[in-house]
Amino acid sequence: MRIGIVGAGHAGIEAAQAARQAGAEVSIFSAEAVLPYFRPRLVSVAMGQVAPEAITMHPASWYEARGMRLQLAAPVSDLDVAGRALVAGGVREAFDTLILACGALPICPRLSDAGGVPPIGTLWSMAEALAIRTQLPTIRRVVVIGGAALGVESALRAREQQLDVVLIERLTRLFPLLLGEDAAGVVQRQMEERGVTVRTGQTVVAVTASAGGGRLVHLSDGSRLEADLVLSCIGAAPNLTLARQAGLPVARGIMADPCLQAAPGIFVAGDACQVGDRPARGAVREAAAQGRLAGQNAVAAIAGGALQPFAFSVVPMTVRCGGVEVNAAGSPAGAGVAEQRLDDGANPACFRALTRQVAGGRVAGVQMVGTREGFDALLADLGR
Ligand SMILES: Cc1cc2nc3c(=O)[nH]c(=O)nc-3n(C[C@H](O)[C@H](O)[C@H](O)COP(=O)(O)OP(=O)(O)OC[C@H]3O[C@@H](n4cnc5c(N)ncnc54)[C@H](O)[C@@H]3O)c2cc1C
Repeated sequence: MRIGIVGAGHAGIEAAQAARQAGAEVSIFSAEAVLPYFRPRLVSVAMGQVAPEAITMHPASWYEARGMRLQLAAPVSDLDVAGRALVAGGVREAFDTLILACGALPICPRLSDAGGVPPIGTLWSMAEALAIRTQLPTIRRVVVIGGAALGVESALRAREQQLDVVLIERLTRLFPLLLGEDAAGVVQRQMEERGVTVRTGQTVVAVTASAGGGRLVHLSDGSRLEADLVLSCIGAAPNLTLARQAGLPVARGIMADPCLQAAPGIFVAGDACQVGDRPARGAVREAAAQGRLAGQNAVAAIAGGALQPFAFSVVPMTVRCGGVEVNAAGSPAGAGVAEQRLDDGANPACFRALTRQVAGGRVAGVQMVGTREGFDALLADLGR
């Protein structure tokens, strides 16, 4: 049984481990040149707070000891779906089944360029984190675009390094898809207390070169900010490059059936995967769980066993850094959804609330700032 895995992120490595445990020969192809690592910790690497090696998942010996073939700096350039083969470094290799775990690509607004230097950076790979880390000694002012988890963490970690930080959010509050006005207000106040300037209801309309050699960020209200680093934290989109090339069905992600199979013998897991109308939610826990199942199903497909469907579960969002803690899941108040505060508001550093469907009273969301008290129990009530 030979299984080829494209991508060595959280989904790819879990898939490899599961397939290996089930007795398959496993080859993992990674576009990145470094050993697989914990992606969420890239922000700390970029801001110089953690050594790059400290976020490595396993040493090279771990893969060797398990008989896994891990090829680094080996981007897969072509897939042959019918032949269950791939091409990496110009070499074609056929397998019994393939697993696509090629993740997502960061979204960057396309704006005017800043005189030769890339106007806006992204932080999604080790190479990008190291590029920022190398520039750190010359960076004093940072503009972060996007007020969700990645933007908030990047802003707080940059501030921990004593950098001047402005965070820009297009909508009227931080975490607009998860938190209501009140919870977001508590987070914003805590960020401002730590020295981050938060500007909501603003978009970046252009980035140009400034007279001092840095960047000039133009906002929708006509104001301008000087910056040495402009970081896009507005999200990521499933990486569809290979799937499109190979003619696999794609929508927002690579379309897979409930057992994570996109075509006979071709499985998908993690940020790249879409099952029915459920695109990936961009979370390590879900990517790893899908990776494990894809590994098991890829073996079962070869052995003629039954494939198992993926069981989706609630994926909460947690940010905990610089003394700010946010835990949330589900939707904030809005059309047909009302917010119910769970604490008495006596502690201004904490906030706990639920949201419920007005019709029927089902729990639609959980929002907590500065605490996790009862969070897991409330999560279990989501949708009930
Ligand atoms: C800075 C940052 C912070 C985050 N914080 C959190 C967090 O706090 N909590 C959370 O749950 N999630 C967080 N996420 C999201 C989480 O990291 C992703 O959901 C998760 O990594 C998805 O795993 P994956 O294996 O699907 O993709 P990835 O981990 O992105 O791995 C995909 C790999 O495939 C490789 N690849 C792509 N194409 C090819 C090819 N053609 N050939 C070979 N290799 C290829 C890529 O280079 C990459 O290494 C964060 C992400 C980032 C970037």
